[in-house]
Amino acid sequence: MIRSWMARFMTGRYGGDHLNVFLIVVYLILYVVFMFTRLVVLELLALVLVIVSLYRSLSRNLERRRAENTRFLQVVRPLWRKWAAFRARTHDKEHRYFKCPNCGQMMRVPRGKGRITVHCRACGAAFEEKS
Ligand SMILES: [Zn+2]
Repeated sequence: MIRSWMARFMTGRYGGDHLNVFLIVVYLILYVVFMFTRLVVLELLALVLVIVSLYRSLSRNLERRRAENTRFLQVVRPLWRKWAAFRARTHDKEHRYFKCPNCGQMMRVPRGKGRITVHCRACGAAFEEKS
């Protein structure tokens, strides 16, 4: 009964997306920091985030909410990819990573092979690198 009421209530409304999850996560972080610091500014900011998140979830302007989410993802996805690449590099103990001194392309060589000559696939430059 409550489920069907909720389903009817949410019909035609936007619901959740990546931006709303992000807003809720930031809200939770702000609220935890607020509990330790008691800075009212953080509590107000957290409250604004919850209100914005609720407004977006219940909104019937689906087109506009999707556009907001798309813009959010356009900003976040490159950062997320850089973070994932950084994590992969730091966890990879079998390779050494460095940038091509000529074009800046990220490259890797197997560790423990001594000094080796490396050829950049992006610009064709050859240089010596310690592995
Ligand atoms: Zn290069």
